[in-house]
Amino acid sequence: MRLNGKIALITGANKGIGLAITQRFLGEGAIVYAGIKNVAEASSDLNILKTKFDSQLNIIKLNVTESENCKEVFQQIKKSCDKIDVLVNNAGIVSYELVPFIDFEKLQLMIQTNVVGLIKMCQLASRYMARQKSGSIINISSIVSLKGASGQAAYSATKGAVNSFTLSLAKELANSNIRVNAIAPGMVSTERLKQISQEKFGDKVSQIGFGRMASPDEIADICLFFASDESSYVTGQLLGADGSLTI
Ligand code: NAD
Repeated sequence: MRLNGKIALITGANKGIGLAITQRFLGEGAIVYAGIKNVAEASSDLNILKTKFDSQLNIIKLNVTESENCKEVFQQIKKSCDKIDVLVNNAGIVSYELVPFIDFEKLQLMIQTNVVGLIKMCQLASRYMARQKSGSIINISSIVSLKGASGQAAYSATKGAVNSFTLSLAKELANSNIRVNAIAPGMVSTERLKQISQEKFGDKVSQIGFGRMASPDEIADICLFFASDESSYVTGQLLGADGSLTI
């Protein structure tokens, strides 16, 4: 029960890494607000968690590109719980295009989601957390922000922005006792990557020292560390979880 009584908001919680974080946090006693883009389309896995954890899990509409919606979510949490301890910015989209073929409409949406939405969420969280003089913000970046990847130049740029924003925000919020850290996963076996890996990434898996992708649960475990008091003196860090890809 390493998060007993903590209030956590997770974006993009419907599936993949966000779902794994939701499950892990619930198991550790947190009250979780699971933000999903469309509540009517809650995944069966998330609904199973709702049945199991009942009032400990709140499934809420949260589209990080809709600034009013983001505000309402914080207001709702403040009203119900009077505090927010943890924000996990997990929501993200990716597009795979070589530079000559970058689709600028897709790029705009990716920037709005991965960067602008994340910054908006951090801004709102920091206002609430600064008043309570505590909090932990966790941003999900990617290994490609450090290592680069052919076909992912635009995506990697959005995650590079996440890294530098994380560092500056950590500096800005340190004297309010708010910690800000990021995780840079390598290849994680979510549905999204499983589908693509068959066509494009099959050979890449063999380049991973561990010889396999990470499971979403392995990323959730790192999130738990950053969310819990076990990392109470850790801020401004970007922790890679890539099975040796960056070394
Ligand atoms: P996923 O596609 O399975 O899940 C992403 C979630 O984000 C979905 O639930 C989706 O609905 C949500 N989302 C998308 N746009 C949103 C918006 N505007 N508002 C709110 N939610 C939105 O992806 P995943 O593999 O679980 O990835 C989660 C995070 O981890 C992303 O930020 C991704 O960039 C990052 N990441 C993933 C991998 C990987 O290999 N899977 C590797 C490195 C980093």
